[in-house]
Amino acid sequence: MADIRTNRLAPDEYARNFADAHPPLTPAQALVESDRCFFCYDAPCIQACPTGIDIPSFIRKIATGDPKGAAKDILTQNIMGSVCARVCPTEVLCEGECVRTAQEERPVRIGALQRYATDWLFDAGVQLFKAGPASGKKVAVVGGGPAGLSCAHRLAMLGHAVTVFEARSKLGGLNEYGVAAYKVAGEIAQREVDYLLAVGNIRVETEKMLGGHIELAKLRREYDAVFLGMGLAGVNGLGIDAENVDGVYDAIGYIGTLRQAKDLSALPVGRKVVVIGGGMTAIDIACQTKRLGAEEVTIVYRRGPEQMGASHKEQDWAQTNGVLIRHWARPVRIVTESGMVGAVEFEYTRAGKGGKLAGTGERFTMAADMVFKAIGQALVADPTVDGSKQVLEMEDGRIAVDGGRHTSLEGVWAGGDCVAGGQDLTVAAVEDGKQAALSIDAWLRGEAVQPAKSKGASHG
Ligand SMILES: Cc1cc2nc3c(=O)[nH]c(=O)nc-3n(C[C@H](O)[C@H](O)[C@H](O)COP(=O)(O)OP(=O)(O)OC[C@H]3O[C@@H](n4cnc5c(N)ncnc54)[C@H](O)[C@@H]3O)c2cc1C
Ligand code: SF4
Repeated sequence: MADIRTNRLAPDEYARNFADAHPPLTPAQALVESDRCFFCYDAPCIQACPTGIDIPSFIRKIATGDPKGAAKDILTQNIMGSVCARVCPTEVLCEGECVRTAQEERPVRIGALQRYATDWLFDAGVQLFKAGPASGKKVAVVGGGPAGLSCAHRLAMLGHAVTVFEARSKLGGLNEYGVAAYKVAGEIAQREVDYLLAVGNIRVETEKMLGGHIELAKLRREYDAVFLGMGLAGVNGLGIDAENVDGVYDAIGYIGTLRQAKDLSALPVGRKVVVIGGGMTAIDIACQTKRLGAEEVTIVYRRGPEQMGASHKEQDWAQTNGVLIRHWARPVRIVTESGMVGAVEFEYTRAGKGGKLAGTGERFTMAADMVFKAIGQALVADPTVDGSKQVLEMEDGRIAVDGGRHTSLEGVWAGGDCVAGGQDLTVAAVEDGKQAALSIDAWLRGEAVQPAKSKGASHG
């Protein structure tokens, strides 16, 4: 019988397990860490940051006791620099390129320093930005996640009147509903949203869904330009029998509930948890169910560690949390007991001809009270169709855009997870929003024509 229960832990254990995973630097630690930077000319870390933050410049400001100047350097390029400091996989971005690594096998802790500067600014309550002189133009932004909010903020700074349409009741997108709780502990995501909206000239309409309450054609008629930043609201299925029985969950839905829970002890969690997938979502659901008190948590991924979407650091983090990762196996059947999940049957896999995944025919069964599907998300097509007609050019199931984040429709831009060729990271969505805003601004001011999106001209 499936063992799924609430209250697996003592009350103080929940608080401990979901507190900030990485404590902030003290002022003294920030000074010492900033002193490790070589302040490289043509610094490779800047190239590696998708938002192009001038990292040596902000670190120098911390070193000289100017955290406000440091925060300005960061937020001018990346208005969501506070959350990015906590969630960026820095090991494959800025810190991955740090020259210090060659000397000391340890990069400058760029993310931690970025957090130090932005926390200082928010704690001090200093607003650095204000809306620009009114241009008389109106822009609709669909989706209040990192892409949409970054676009809205930059457009407001450039003088345009922005309305954000968000399907949910809160802004923030996956910063609020998806990213692991211990990465963005407390009210960090909403604090950033409040800071961003305080720029002025951004109107917000929550619980307004494109494809439901509003239509693209109407937005195009009523606004001078439209930005689509609605992420990926759909979840991929496993495509096997009984994947919808009780006890099989969509990882992102469960994480969303966890992130909004007032009382974590009230969340039911299994004794034996099996997670299917290999990306950040798989790592996050595995670590969080372990921290909710699950006894055995196993991630099963169909290929090897090198092919996992999660970085080595994230894989190590999962193992530090007591999560077991098994590679080269794929689920073939959910085994049910009294109408609920009881186990998952897997088939061993291998890389066949040309690297194509092949089953070996050998099988094994793993007992499970709870199974999480974490094999990626998909664009919900509704917003991109008008009536029954597909109105936006698509590429690999996502919206096709060019370098300026133009779509194939005049006056419509898109960015973040919903577009093809991106990195599916918060920082990349922020950059998309920023680039789209600059492109929209040039177009609204008559300084650029919107080229028809040419096939294959993906921004990635
Ligand atoms: C579980 C999980 C953990 C992650 N962890 C990390 C991490 O640690 N680090 C990292 O860099 N990245 C992480 N990511 C990826 C990152 O969260 C995304 O790349 C980023 O949030 C994309 O931003 P976005 O604005 O494109 O989309 P989203 O954040 O998804 O925001 C889209 C917004 O649009 C709204 N919306 C959707 N459809 C409509 C509609 N039809 N009408 C109106 N509004 C709509 C949604 O409600 C949402 O608010 C994680 C993702 C997941 C799923
Ligand atoms: S935004 Fe992310 S990638 Fe860029 S410097 Fe900050 S932590 Fe590094």
